[in-house]
Amino acid sequence: MRFADVVGHQTLGAKLRESARSSRVAHAQLLEGQEGAGALALARAFAQYLTCADPGTEDSCGTCHSCQAHAKLQHPDVHWCFPFFKADGQDKATSDPHQGTWREAMLEGAYLGVEDWLERLGADRKQLFISVDEALEVNRKLGLKSFHGGWKIWICWLPETMRVDTANKFLKLMEEPTDKTVMLFVTEHPDRLLATIRSRVQRIHVPNLSSEEAAEGLVSKWGMAQAQATSLAHVADGNLALALRMARAGDDQPDLDRFSAWMRACWARDGKAMVEGSEAFAAMGREGQKRFLHYALHLVRQSIVGHYGAESLVRLTPSEEGFLSKFSTFIHHDNVLALRQALEDAHGDVAGNVNGKLVFVDLSLRVHRMLRIPAGGN
Ligand SMILES: [Zn+2]
Repeated sequence: MRFADVVGHQTLGAKLRESARSSRVAHAQLLEGQEGAGALALARAFAQYLTCADPGTEDSCGTCHSCQAHAKLQHPDVHWCFPFFKADGQDKATSDPHQGTWREAMLEGAYLGVEDWLERLGADRKQLFISVDEALEVNRKLGLKSFHGGWKIWICWLPETMRVDTANKFLKLMEEPTDKTVMLFVTEHPDRLLATIRSRVQRIHVPNLSSEEAAEGLVSKWGMAQAQATSLAHVADGNLALALRMARAGDDQPDLDRFSAWMRACWARDGKAMVEGSEAFAAMGREGQKRFLHYALHLVRQSIVGHYGAESLVRLTPSEEGFLSKFSTFIHHDNVLALRQALEDAHGDVAGNVNGKLVFVDLSLRVHRMLRIPAGGN
């Protein structure tokens, strides 16, 4: 992946290239950015640039042996680490059985979210982590001589999934780095990393993309039509991983049908539909439930924005607008805060591993009462 394949972040890219040219490459770096902002893409472009045989000021050459190996994700001096689960029958919990899946994911692009990764692994309900065994394996790999005599690069996606004992193993590597080794940590939650790790890395903040930048990227790099790109980028609020997920799902109003059916059941206090709906939500797995609740919050917020006539703030697809033009009459000053609170509580419960069906049954009953509150407070 070249810098030309990264959406936005020209200034950050230039800084990384400058560090490589001036040989002031920090051996442990932490790229911090929310899902879909492109931290992983930057790490990959940087790795390719560092190992390129003929790098220019603007980018890696794209044609040398090293660049060709990067393009196939088969560079012998680049090692990958990501959260995984222990495969059945495995002696040690290492990422080996999942490296092929990772390679496939990376060949399709670098804008990957946890939800996409869980789906690829077929591990929706499993807890993903980076194991101690994996840390030992990385220690071993980085201790080897580099194949091409240049940099050895280790890219670790989501180091926040390491437990303390694992992180301690990496600390040693960070304190006593082997020669010409670069460790690139790519995180969505720097606050969840051990302070001892945070204090030993060079931190690089990767800001969110604007909706405009994301839309431009969808058009220029994924060949999407302008109207669809603009709509997806707005709904996803610049999160490219989410926008691509929505595009793959074949709709630009994810979960809208589900939301509208659920609201109808809640309004009518249709017990059967509420329970069946809750079972269906539970079956979506934790990440799916979180995504849906996030989306429900988005719609509730947007229906209020519509009320106040702040048209420019409304970020909706045409079908969402059609739905909200009717639904927003049920959302008003006297119930919107309680509704948002209920959805946020449910999100917290799901994140805290409370049984999904219970969360949604309880939430449905709360939402029913709130929808029945008349506007005007009487
Ligand atoms: Zn090259």
